[in-house]
Amino acid sequence: MIALCVGLLTSVAAVAAQAASAADCPGHPDAIGTSRTIVVDPRAHPMIGTMQYAKTLPLADREVVLTFDDGPLPKYSNQILDILAAHCAKATFFLIGRQANGNPEGVRKVRDAGHTVATHSQNHPTGMDRLPLDRSKQEIEQGIASVTAALGDGTAPAPFLRIPGLRVNNGIEEFAASKGLQLWSADFPADDWRDVSANRVYELAMQRLEQKGKGILLLHDIQPRTVAALPRILRELKTRGYRIVHVVPATPDRPATPTEPQQWQLHPPSEMVAISRWPKVPKFASAGPAALPVPALSDLDWHTSDLGARASRRGRVVPLPPVTLWPRQTTLPPTGTLAALPVPARSIFKIPESASMTLLAASARRATSTAQAQARVMEVSSAKPAGKSRHGHAAAAQPPASAGQTAQAPQGAAGAAPKPAAQAKRNGRSVRVAGLKKR
Ligand SMILES: [Zn+2]
Repeated sequence: MIALCVGLLTSVAAVAAQAASAADCPGHPDAIGTSRTIVVDPRAHPMIGTMQYAKTLPLADREVVLTFDDGPLPKYSNQILDILAAHCAKATFFLIGRQANGNPEGVRKVRDAGHTVATHSQNHPTGMDRLPLDRSKQEIEQGIASVTAALGDGTAPAPFLRIPGLRVNNGIEEFAASKGLQLWSADFPADDWRDVSANRVYELAMQRLEQKGKGILLLHDIQPRTVAALPRILRELKTRGYRIVHVVPATPDRPATPTEPQQWQLHPPSEMVAISRWPKVPKFASAGPAALPVPALSDLDWHTSDLGARASRRGRVVPLPPVTLWPRQTTLPPTGTLAALPVPARSIFKIPESASMTLLAASARRATSTAQAQARVMEVSSAKPAGKSRHGHAAAAQPPASAGQTAQAPQGAAGAAPKPAAQAKRNGRSVRVAGLKKR
């Protein structure tokens, strides 16, 4: 109990200290700043980001983690660094090894500005989930080696890894975990790798954040539209009361921030919320993408220009025509729609084994009931006494609701109009079967 209290006091003090530093952004009184830094242990939480996994960073409501992929590319990465510096906002950069080789100074700039340096493969292959596992491993390890070399001070990048286009598979996930790497997905993208306006990037970032209330924002520091959108995003985050959280990896002398397991869920279940009674809901979200590619994710990568190549790789057996007959990019559905669609459960596509049996049973039942109805008519029409026949006729040919009414009518009208009754008696069978057929 005492240990718990001391721990709580320490973390409260730490949060207070970090909050104080957030306000401290010299020369930029309107800056959003960085409200706190959390230290995470990759081995304890090897996969994060609700776009693909059940867990995400242990953020409080209105806390946002900024991430930038694909740099460093001096032209735009430097502007992104300047904007972040002007807002005293700290982020995580997932750098490409090849870019680091070409621009090692850019890697050091990211580190020197106090951001977290992480990796994003060596060559940014599209569709890494389809590569042989050995190639994927090589991509991951070379990426880390290139960024390490660029840092040039003997330090390694943070053991945070984001796979290009988030195209992971089980082999990659297992490999990353075995290496103590934390696989970062994201909680929401802003589609800044697509051909959209900077205003659209801003809108998507804010709308998707509002939907989840907190989380990891996925951006790219190599896109001019991101450079244009970022200042507005940061200003609006501050206006709406969001706070920036910086994430760093645990080290032997920097222990992980103490957290409870439920803090790693985007919306921890509460005893007051009835839906939390169904534990399969979060399971559904985590198991879906692992087993079944989500359509939205297949286009997450900014290298979307080779859809045709991807399609022809798929069609190895029957080669596709060299030129696709349909327009390529233009037919993609609006991005908002994709984001809003839930991942269909695998069970939806399953046809239970009993389905065909059910169908057979249903048609058999129909056939039986028709046969029974005919048999009833036969039985009725062959009965001798007139009273019984009239009553039976009414019961068989009329709906149940009017049966009593109809049954009374012949009794009252028997004397006044005997002719229809007699006719019915004479041609009883053919008349009744015709009536039944009409129905
Ligand atoms: Zn990327």
